[in-house]
Parts: sequence; structure tokens; C-alpha cells
Amino acid sequence: MNTNTLFDEVFSDSATSEAIVGETIMNSSIDSEINVEEQTEVPPEEPTVSLAESVVTTPANLKYYKGGQRYELMFSGVCSHCAHCGQPLTDAESMQRGIGPVCSKKGYKDEVEPRDDVEAIMALAEFPELADYMVKCYKPKGNRDMVNALVRIASLNRRTPVHAACTDAVDALGYTKLASALRESISSIEIYEVAEKPDFYAMWIKKHDFSWSFWSQLKNQPGVHMTKFPKPATFIPKSQRKELAKLLISHYSGLYIKTPKGSHKITEAWFGKMNS
Ligand SMILES: [Zn+2]
Repeated sequence: MNTNTLFDEVFSDSATSEAIVGETIMNSSIDSEINVEEQTEVPPEEPTVSLAESVVTTPANLKYYKGGQRYELMFSGVCSHCAHCGQPLTDAESMQRGIGPVCSKKGYKDEVEPRDDVEAIMALAEFPELADYMVKCYKPKGNRDMVNALVRIASLNRRTPVHAACTDAVDALGYTKLASALRESISSIEIYEVAEKPDFYAMWIKKHDFSWSFWSQLKNQPGVHMTKFPKPATFIPKSQRKELAKLLISHYSGLYIKTPKGSHKITEAWFGKMNS
């Protein structure tokens, strides 16, 4: 069996359907949902960073290196793409916030978990200038303003390590569902369930993140197999979930995984939490 071909198919199949879904959301939402958003979504404590204030307090963009790659930490600029779904932003409100009207409904208003300012700032520790900026400019304004600012920075720094740090900080501030939404479109792996195989997890891995060493260890687990129907996927018996988690943690630690219970960072803590 040519696994490479299968994964190509899995990837292109999924990518196409995501693009179509994304377009559909954009087309149906831009005209119809922005008004709803303005009426119901925008709370009084929305960030009100005036131009004068932002000129004074926003640090200059910074260059940094991580994993041998050069990045720029963007503090300012126009948010061109939604921090969550990656679709282009079109209205001024969304461009300031860094999140589109549809995505902002995904958990933006939830604050169910206890918040932890210290943990949030620690999540930004790799980027001291960013942590400093948040503490000085947003912490005094409260939790909600910090989250708004983090979403904006995440949008400006999409697909860089800054995005992950901001997402972790949003999570620590209690916006668990919003953090999950922010991680969803850049998840490397997806685990889902299919009705035809109730005793199995189906798994899809982004082609870019596919690891042969992960796959060669996974396929040796009892019951693991690939099928083309009903949809190309790798199936893992649910009884092997601990083995699967161990392999994910050893090969994909720090990347994002989308599950039926939301999108998470792959860590020991994530798996521990899932089992509790
Ligand atoms: Zn979006």
C-alpha cells in the first residue's frame, strides 16, 4: 500500500473541503452577519486604543529567531487575516480586532474557567517585549482587553511561534473555547469519529507535518489500519488511545490537535486533562 499517496489524498480532500466551507462562511456572513455582530456582539468594554495612544505605547516590530528560522514579532500593522480561520478580513472592525464576525462568536464571550493572569504572562515569556507590553498596556484595563489584544497580536503573527504563545495566554485567561477556535485552523492533526467504525478513532495529519517515524511506530500498534472508504483515513482502535497519545506527545509535542472536544496543544498536561 502506498501510504504517501493516501496521505496526499487525505490532505487534498480535506484542504478542498475546508476551502469551500471557508468561502461559504465568508460569502454568507459578510453581508448578513456583520450587522448582527454590531448589535449583539460588541460589548461596552471593547478596546478603545486611540491613534495617539497606540503611537505612544506600541513597541516597534522586532526580529527574532526560533528553530533556526527568522521571524518578525509584529506589534502593529493591519490584521489582514482572521486569527482563527485565516480567511481575509474585510471590514474595519474585524481588521482592528484580528478576528472575523463569525469566528468571534466561537467562544469569545465565554469565561468559564478560572483565569490566571500570571500563567498568561508566563505563556508569553519567550517574548519578553510582548509580555512587557501586555503587562503595561493591557493588564490594568482588565481580562477582556488583554484577550482582545492577544487575539490581535495572534492575527498579526499568524503561523509563527508568537501565535502559539498568544493562544496559550488566551487559554490561561479563561477563554478556553476561544483558544480552541484560534488553534483549529492551524491544527497539524485531526482526530475524529465516524459512525461506521464506532470502536476506532479516525486520524488525519497535515501533509506538511507528516512524520514517517511516527507513522512507522503507529502502524505497529494492534488494529491500526488505513482505509479509503468511507473516506481515506488512518484508524486507531479506541483501546489504543494511551499508546496513540504517547506517540503523539513524543513526535508532535507542542503542535495542535483538533479533536471532537476542541483543539488543543499536544502536551502531557493535555492528555492528563483528557483522562481526568
Ligand atoms: Zn475567521
